[in-house]
Amino acid sequence: MKKLQPTLHTAYQHALDYRSKSGHAHCLPNLDSKEMLEALDESMPEDSSEPDDVIKYLAHLGKQGLIGGTSRRFFGWVAGASHPAGVAADWLVSAWGQNSSYQEPTPTTSALEEIAQNWLLDILDLPRYSSVGFTTGATVGNFVALAAARGATLRKYGWDVDKSGLFGAPAITVYLGKDAHVSVSAALMYLGLGYERVIRIKTDDMGRMISDDLEHQIACHEGPKIVIGQAGQINTGAFDPFKDIADIAHRADAWLHIDAAFGLWARANPDLKHLTDGIDQADSWTTDGHKWLQTPFDTGYAIIKDSEAHLRAMSILASYLPKQDAGERNPSSLVPELSRRGRGVPTWAMLKTLGRNGIAEMVGRHCSVARYMAQELVKEPGINLHNDVVLNQVLIDFGNEHDSLNKRKANTEGVISGIQKDGICFMGGAIWRDRWVMRISVISGDTTIEDGRVAISNIKENWRKIQTL
Ligand SMILES: *Cc1c(COP(=O)(O)O)cnc(C)c1O
Repeated sequence: MKKLQPTLHTAYQHALDYRSKSGHAHCLPNLDSKEMLEALDESMPEDSSEPDDVIKYLAHLGKQGLIGGTSRRFFGWVAGASHPAGVAADWLVSAWGQNSSYQEPTPTTSALEEIAQNWLLDILDLPRYSSVGFTTGATVGNFVALAAARGATLRKYGWDVDKSGLFGAPAITVYLGKDAHVSVSAALMYLGLGYERVIRIKTDDMGRMISDDLEHQIACHEGPKIVIGQAGQINTGAFDPFKDIADIAHRADAWLHIDAAFGLWARANPDLKHLTDGIDQADSWTTDGHKWLQTPFDTGYAIIKDSEAHLRAMSILASYLPKQDAGERNPSSLVPELSRRGRGVPTWAMLKTLGRNGIAEMVGRHCSVARYMAQELVKEPGINLHNDVVLNQVLIDFGNEHDSLNKRKANTEGVISGIQKDGICFMGGAIWRDRWVMRISVISGDTTIEDGRVAISNIKENWRKIQTL
């Protein structure tokens, strides 16, 4: 391929240039999505172009519409910062061009994924015999784990859902906390379990499932059951009481799945691990690589204790495809996709780069920054904290007790938009318990206490500005 060298070199140069500046870069894109669409608008090209020219054009225009997701002061949503080791490993995955579905034709990517699976089970301290499917994220991770749950719970009632589908099957009752992440509802929808035909379990003021309510509800139904808990509520960062939930679920012979997109990583830090006590009693878990592990997008994991149920839910068999022998680990037999990239490789690279101590240090540091920010922010009159900062999440709003909720919402939105315009740091908003709040998620790889300080002063400054309007 004669254009290989300049083309890859252009991408490399641009990436290097972008990433060497993006640590503190302006957090909002220069062009909004409409402007970006206009800038890129042209009809389908008739003639060929030089690949290098295409990549130059892409790099030049592309950088105008990028949010500062790799910045150390990006506190929006819950998103990792695409660590250079993960990015570089992902480049090799693309350059190698392996279709990493079966292990026999792709020894390198399959072996790296298998090693990464074993390391994940080690650092997350989950049963080492579990199987891990490398997905695009926690949404698909939830889907995979709940597909295994659906199959296994129905088989106990003599029904093979993989073969026969859901029509005529015994009805599965699904129990889900009121503050579960929406991606769980999406997974239930994809699986024909319906996002509304679930029993919603009461939660406390931090969004934790109330186990007494689960116990009461689960006693009301016969037949196959699935209970879905959560580690790391998307707003508050709270953890369900896993010991109690696991006990109740298993006494009722239910499958227990935990959506732990970021909260599972508390297990990687000895001081935080207690938040997840009892979580290993579940039957399946979902977590993300592209959040706390800092892999580039997109990587998530479906972790399932009963690997037989996992395989049965996801395997594709055909005469032209390599056969699956017992004991083999074929990446595509654990996820919905057949053709796929070597998605385990960036995970392997991140685990190898950071190591057990590096991950513990990072997770611990992020949580310390979150606690520090919460503690300093509430010293400012009119800044109010709305969660127990047990992990990396901080929820605040702006105003005093005499202000109406609408007034406080306007204040909070005003501060958020001021911050986003300044571009020193990035925060977003959400509704928590009927109140509009600013969400601070500390989860960007390199974030330090100093970044927290810079962010605090920017938040205070914008709040003071709003008060003088
Ligand atoms: C982010 C998140 C998800 C969805 O994960 P994706 O990687 O975006 O698919 C699910 N549950 C929780 C608790 C999350 O934080």
